[in-house]
Amino acid sequence: MAVNLENYTRIKLECDAAGATLVAVSKIKPASDILALKNAGQLDFGENYVQELVEKANELPKDIRWHFIGHLQRNKVKYIAPFVHLVHGVDSFRLLEEIGRQADKFGRDIHCLLQVHIAMEETKFGMNAAGLDDCLLQLSNARSEGKCSRVKVRGLMGMASFTDDLQQLEREFGQLHSLYQKHLSRFDHQETEPVLSMGMSSDYQLALKKGSNMVRIGSALFGARN
Ligand SMILES: *Cc1c(COP(=O)(O)O)cnc(C)c1O
Repeated sequence: MAVNLENYTRIKLECDAAGATLVAVSKIKPASDILALKNAGQLDFGENYVQELVEKANELPKDIRWHFIGHLQRNKVKYIAPFVHLVHGVDSFRLLEEIGRQADKFGRDIHCLLQVHIAMEETKFGMNAAGLDDCLLQLSNARSEGKCSRVKVRGLMGMASFTDDLQQLEREFGQLHSLYQKHLSRFDHQETEPVLSMGMSSDYQLALKKGSNMVRIGSALFGARN
C-alpha cells in the first residue's frame, strides 16, 4: 500500500495553518510506509499496539517521535517508557501512577494526555467529566507526597462518535474543548504547549475548527486498514 503524499501535503498545510500538530497513525502499516512519509518530512507517528510500536521503534530512525494512541495496559508501560514521546490514552489514575513509576525508573519525563469519553458508543475508552476531575485531584495529592513528578499531563484526548451527523460531532468536540479550557491551568505545560488531541481522517477539519491542536490521522495518509 503506497502512502498518499498528495493528501499528506494538503493535510499538513491545513494543520500548519491551524497551529496543530499532525500525528500520522501508522498502526498495522509496514515500516516502509512510515519511512516514505518520514522522508517527506513527517516526524510524529502514532501506534496503537505496544509490541508493534516497540518493534517499529527499534527498526526505524531514532529521531521519530512515537505517540502511543491505543489503550495502554499497566503491565506494558515499561516497554514503551524508555522512548515514547506522548501517551494519548490515559484513562485512569492507576495508569498515570504506573507511568510515573516507570518514568522515575528510566530517569526521564513521560508526557501524557488524559482520555475523555465524548462519544455515544460505549465501547470507546475514556473518563467522564467527574472522573477527569478526580484523576487530576489524585495527581495533585500524589505530587504533594513527592510522587508522580516525572509524569507530565499535557492535556486531553478524545474520540468522537462514528457518525456523519455534523451537529453531533460538533457537540462532542465542543464538550471536550470546554473541559480542556476548564482544566488548562492544571496541566503541566511550563516548558511545552498544552495539547488537545482530537480529530481523525473523517472529522479532523471539524476538530480543528473546534480548537484541536493535535490531530491523529491514519487512513487518509496510509490508505484503508484491513
Ligand atoms: C486508528 C486511530 C486513529 C486514526 O484513524 P483514521 O480514521 O485512520 O484516521 C486516530 N486515533 C485513534 C485513537 C486511533 O485508534
